[in-house]
Amino acid sequence: MAAVTLDRLWEMSPQAVFLLDDAGRILAANAAAADAREVDAPDALIGTDYFEPLAGNIAARRRARMEALLHATTDVGPSRVAERIPATDGGSRLVRCTIAAVDGPDPAVVAVFEDEEVFPEAAPADRRSENRFRNAFDRAPQGMALLDTEGRWRRVNRALLDMLGHPETDLIGRSLLSVTHVDDWARDIAWLDAALAGDTTPFDAEKRFLRADGTVIWAHVTRVMTRDPDGTPREIIGQFIDTSRRHEVEAALRASESRFREAFEAAPHGMAMCGLDGRFIEVNTALCRILNRDEATLTSLDVTAVSHPEDHNVYLEAARRLLTDDVRVFAGEMRFVRPDGTDLRGHVSVALARDGHGRPHHLIMHLQDITRQVEAEVGLHEAVATAEQALLAKTRFLAAASHDLRQPLQALNLFVSVLSGRETDPAKKDILAKVERSLEGLADLMNTLLDISKLEGGAILPDQRAFDIHPMIRRLAEEFTPMAADIGLTLRVVPPTATVFSDPALLEIILRNLIGNALKYTHHGGRVLLGARRLEGGQRLRLDIIDTGEGIPVDQRQLIFEDFHRVMPEPGVEGRSGLGLGLGIVNRVARLLGAAVAVDSTVGRGSRFSVTVPCQVPGAVPESGKRAPARRAQGASQEVGSDAAPVDRAGRGLLHLVVVDDEAAVRESLTLLLEGWGHRVSAFAGLSDLTEALLTDALTCPDVMLADFRLPSGRTGVEAVALARGHFRRAVPALLLTGDTESQRLRDASRGGLPVLRKPVRPDQLRLKLAEMIGALHRSDGSVTPESGPRS
Ligand code: ADP
Repeated sequence: MAAVTLDRLWEMSPQAVFLLDDAGRILAANAAAADAREVDAPDALIGTDYFEPLAGNIAARRRARMEALLHATTDVGPSRVAERIPATDGGSRLVRCTIAAVDGPDPAVVAVFEDEEVFPEAAPADRRSENRFRNAFDRAPQGMALLDTEGRWRRVNRALLDMLGHPETDLIGRSLLSVTHVDDWARDIAWLDAALAGDTTPFDAEKRFLRADGTVIWAHVTRVMTRDPDGTPREIIGQFIDTSRRHEVEAALRASESRFREAFEAAPHGMAMCGLDGRFIEVNTALCRILNRDEATLTSLDVTAVSHPEDHNVYLEAARRLLTDDVRVFAGEMRFVRPDGTDLRGHVSVALARDGHGRPHHLIMHLQDITRQVEAEVGLHEAVATAEQALLAKTRFLAAASHDLRQPLQALNLFVSVLSGRETDPAKKDILAKVERSLEGLADLMNTLLDISKLEGGAILPDQRAFDIHPMIRRLAEEFTPMAADIGLTLRVVPPTATVFSDPALLEIILRNLIGNALKYTHHGGRVLLGARRLEGGQRLRLDIIDTGEGIPVDQRQLIFEDFHRVMPEPGVEGRSGLGLGLGIVNRVARLLGAAVAVDSTVGRGSRFSVTVPCQVPGAVPESGKRAPARRAQGASQEVGSDAAPVDRAGRGLLHLVVVDDEAAVRESLTLLLEGWGHRVSAFAGLSDLTEALLTDALTCPDVMLADFRLPSGRTGVEAVALARGHFRRAVPALLLTGDTESQRLRDASRGGLPVLRKPVRPDQLRLKLAEMIGALHRSDGSVTPESGPRS
């Protein structure tokens, strides 16, 4: 029964079926095959060549497919292909041809099935217009397709094939759902159902297609169902426009927007988008937290509503400058007010965002809460101000303390000197000499400590200028040579001829310390040399202090510049007295001057300390061109600033001296000392005493005046001297004494052109100075006669 049934089916099948041998000859065919080949009965085909009646290219392709099937080593299944077959009327038909290997006793047998036409031919009458339509259809730049009423592809153009990335054979006869993204099926099916039910609404939507390579594309699809005049659905015409690029851009935009949004939300600082009118459009969590308002409240307000009234203009100014393209980003500080009334200091940056046409759209504001920072800064400023105040107070205190300390020390010095002058008992004289030495040491120590604190406190400001270094070196040579001789050393000095650029007083402090050390750390019989060397073609001058002393171990050469650091003497070797502060001072002063101090040394053989200073810039005129006359000085009178006259030791004698000092002890001790030297002394406590004496003619013109620089009521010794000079109409020689340590005051004092001695003045210094002045007086003005001859 099965065989009978199969035979019936074989005969009834609308599909043309041919069985072929491996050479392509027809072994069997059904009725539909006979129809297709236009023969009366299937038998007429038996034994004929299947491929022969076919068009050349069709025949070749089908034969190739058959060969491939026959020679396949694996079971490849039937080969199914839709083909366009030229028709006798010049048109064409679409035919699907399936070739399959037949499972039977003879493996060489294949079956060929030819389907009915996939779609019917157009009526001949329409052919011309249809050809034109086909042309337009095929060449259209956008995708075009005809589908049957069930939604199966019937015809597609090249643009659509390119867009979908499928060969035509993949599509024709298949449902459009086969290349549609599954998420878009429902919409397609719904539209098809509605259209078949009579709905004439076109399909107009974006949908996704699956390309052959597995990628997904987006297309904007418009479809209409064409109908016969009676309304029966005929076919679907569709247009497809690739919108993938736009979707990609949109997706990228969405991604970047979401990233922006994440960053916006997660930002630790406040961020907001504001309208051009300042209204908050969007705010992030941090902004809500900083301003202590929730999102809903903030977005109902504008920036001025939350900012400090005095800073409204800041935001308005930002908007104005951004809108006029004055700046790209506005940054500034602005205060905000929280609902509880507390202020907040913010650093705001505002930028302008434009729309796609470049028109201003909104403002983006970034707010950083810098309240704490500002408070810290204010605290810091206050702390700095307090520290500066403290420093100032310390400097003032030191200046005052030094002034006040110097007065009793001065008096003590002078009293002791007077006492030793009157004492005849050698034992007591010896004790007094020791007391004097102790006092000297005390004065030196006090000066050193004060110098250090002034250097530390910044109370000393260098007054750098061009000056001739020759007189300074000569003066130092004259001062130190006798000292060196006293302790059995030879000091050789080669004064350079150079104009250097430095602060002479400060440079002298360095040199004094270095020379003093060289003398101190060189054994009896040794030599010390003070010389100079020009460097860099004369741009700089290196002053060298070379000694043949004990030298400094290499590991100590840096340390000796630290305060209180001293090299321990070898066992059995006697140590030198000292505090270990001298090089500390040298170091500080050198830093202040920007001068370099270097040390080179060999233990047991000696050391070289060098200080390098810049020479005067070529072409510049030195402040003081003339060389100061040499001055012989024995004591350490650092602040003697005027040109000194040659010493006249015969200058002792009965002079009339005027002393002006507000310190009773100093006045008294000075008077005693000077009287002890045989002079007549008129002492005054201040300017008013002196004035009174002058007005009442109680005072005759003095030979020399000694005035304290700082007098009561803010007056100065310079004024006292000027007063006396004016009264007597004579340039009375005068000497200023001062306990001031502030460099500015010292400069003020020496600026008056009067010689200055710094308290505590040692009696021998004073005697020397007086002798100098009298000597000068003798040379310049013979009219001055000492009131009596010299007294020893
Ligand atoms: P002081 O001389 O009061 O000890 P300084 O600061 O001037 O203080 O010097 C520090 C140390 O450096 C000295 O104690 C000494 O050991 C060493 N020193 C300084 N100058 C020399 C020198 N010319 N020769 C050898 N040693 C020196």
